[in-house]
Amino acid sequence: MISAQSPEVINFLDLTPEEFHKAIQELGQSKFRATQILDWVYDKNIYDFQEMLNLSKDLRTLLKQRFRLFLPKVIESFKSADGSVKFLLELWDNSRIEMILMPSEKSATLCISSQVGCSRKCKFCATGKLGLTRNLLTSEIIGQILLARKYIKNRKLTNVVFMGMGEPLDNYENVVQAVRIMTHEKAINLSSRKITISTSGVIPKIKLLANEDIKVKLAVSLNAVIDSKRNEIMPINKIFPLADLKKTLLDFRHSTAYKVTYEYVMIKKFNIGNDDVRALLKFLGDQSCKLNLIAWNPVEGLDYEAPNEKEIEEFKAKLAQLQCPIIQRDSRGNDINGACGQLAGKNIERKEGDHGKY
Ligand code: SF4
Repeated sequence: MISAQSPEVINFLDLTPEEFHKAIQELGQSKFRATQILDWVYDKNIYDFQEMLNLSKDLRTLLKQRFRLFLPKVIESFKSADGSVKFLLELWDNSRIEMILMPSEKSATLCISSQVGCSRKCKFCATGKLGLTRNLLTSEIIGQILLARKYIKNRKLTNVVFMGMGEPLDNYENVVQAVRIMTHEKAINLSSRKITISTSGVIPKIKLLANEDIKVKLAVSLNAVIDSKRNEIMPINKIFPLADLKKTLLDFRHSTAYKVTYEYVMIKKFNIGNDDVRALLKFLGDQSCKLNLIAWNPVEGLDYEAPNEKEIEEFKAKLAQLQCPIIQRDSRGNDINGACGQLAGKNIERKEGDHGKY
C-alpha cells in the first residue's frame, strides 16, 4: 500500500504553490493548469482530483497517481456550551490528534496540533506524559485548517494558533512550511498577524524563527518566573533557563513587528505568591509584551488547584504596575475537556497537552 510518506507520491498539501507549479511543470503541464488545481483546492474546497472537472480525464488520472490529497478524518466532534467545537482527528497511520474551533458570529479561531504527543514533559500537561509519537507532516497541519474551513462554511477563519498537541518549534521545518502555505495568497491567504506559534521556550528555534522571512506572532508558555519553580513544572527550563529565554525573546521582539505574548497559568499555592509577583515584575517590567493569565484548569491525576476569584483579583492587582496589557483568558470549552489533548486521550490514553487553555 502506498502510504502518505511513500517516496513515489507527493502530498499535495506539503507543497507551497511555487513548489506545486514546479512539480506540475515537471509532469509536462502548464503553469495555468497548476493555478486551476490550486483554485480547486484552496478556493473551492475540492480535495478529489476526479472532481476537478475543467481538467482532462488523463490529467486527473496522472494527478491521482502522483499526488496524495486528503484531509485528516474526523472521528468525533464535541460542541461546548460556549460554542467551541473540539475535533478528534485520525491521521493516515491511525495516529490521533485534536483541534479546537472557536467560532464567533462572523469569524473563527482555530487551535491546531503540531505533533502526535510531545517530548517536553511539562508537568501540568498530559500530552507531555505520553511522550512524542511523531511530528505532523506539513500536509497534516494544513489539513486541520482546511477541515475547519469546511466546517465553518460562510464564516471566515481569522486566526490560527499552534496551541494544540505538541511543541511546534520541535517540528520546526514542517511548521514553518505550513505557515508559508497558510500565508500564501494562492493558498490559504491568512495574514501572518493572525497566526500565533506557542512555545515552551525552545531557544535555538526561537532564534531561527526571528530570522525567517515569515513573521508570525509568538506566545510563550511561562507559568513561573523563578527558575526552581519553572524547572519543577517545565523541564525545558533546565536546558533553557529563564534569563537566556528572556534575552532571546528581547532579541526576537526587535526583529519582528509583534509583541511576545506570555501565557501564565495561575496555580493556587504555587505561582501566585508575593515572590512570584516580584519575579514577574522584574521579568516583564522592561519588556514590550502582553501577559495572558489563565486560571488552572483541573487535570485528572494532578493535584494542583485553581485559585479562587479573590486570589486571582489580588494577584492581578499586584501586577497592575506592569506597563504591558494583562488579559485574563477564559478556559473556553471546559465542558468538553477544552484543555488541548484531553479528547485525543479518551481513545488512546489520557492526554492533556496545553500550550494554551481556552
Ligand atoms: S505544554 Fe506544550 S510543550 Fe509542554 S508537554 Fe504539553 S504540549 Fe508539550
